[in-house]
Amino acid sequence: MIHLKTIEEIELIRESSLLVAKTHGELAKHIRPGISSMELDRIAETFIRDHGAVPGFKGYHGFPYTLCVSPNEVVVHGFPKEEPLQEGDIVSIDCGVLKNGYYGDSAYTFAVGEISPEKKRMLKTTFQCLMIGIEQLVEGNTLGDVSWAIQNHAEKAGFSVVRELVGHGLGRKLHEPPELPNFGRKGKGSIIQNGLVVAIEPMINMGKRFVVQEKDGWTIRTADRKPSGHYEHTVAVLNGKAVTLSTFAFIEESLKNNKHNSVIIG
Ligand code: MG
Ligand code: MG
Repeated sequence: MIHLKTIEEIELIRESSLLVAKTHGELAKHIRPGISSMELDRIAETFIRDHGAVPGFKGYHGFPYTLCVSPNEVVVHGFPKEEPLQEGDIVSIDCGVLKNGYYGDSAYTFAVGEISPEKKRMLKTTFQCLMIGIEQLVEGNTLGDVSWAIQNHAEKAGFSVVRELVGHGLGRKLHEPPELPNFGRKGKGSIIQNGLVVAIEPMINMGKRFVVQEKDGWTIRTADRKPSGHYEHTVAVLNGKAVTLSTFAFIEESLKNNKHNSVIIG
């Protein structure tokens, strides 16, 4: 059953989502060739705890880290690693926090130094999929309208949509009903109502849509080892309209001032 949120609950989810956004902004100051994703994980955990919250993913079904760090062919749920990021990598960083009993959840795929035009186009398309999905999240539409819009945009651009992992409701739990796939049919699925809060998170592959899970039990990568992009916002429906509770504004601000890494997608 979908738990629709009160205004008060949405404000608490907004607070958690803003902390996620600021954590991403902090990470964006440090993203560059040579830094390890384990270092980013430590920065994120310290930042979140210093702001009176706890990492939302750490310990979730046994996930061992604060961040999911998913470079290149890794789609989602990658572990932070000690090995340094390389010029030309792309890396999805997914972060969640729990504050005042409510979760926020957002992901951004960063470019590390300069990236290929192909990767840039794939990321731009993934970013656009998120924005187009959010536009469809209005009262009276169905979840299928959101799913279809994302799939249509990705496939028109020649990319493919991961089917095995989906967006989700969130609130007191990190994952609540409904599931929100990034593929689907217009007019299908639940009707969108005020008070719905969902994480919309397109995962778009440069090659084929198929994914495999690594032996660590978490890491999901593309079967063809081609790169994959991932952007995610926590979004509420208020007064009939989509209100994005997380934001990439802190990331963009940090990247503008990051001499080693200034590629802003979007
Ligand atoms: Mg996430
Ligand atoms: Mg999520």
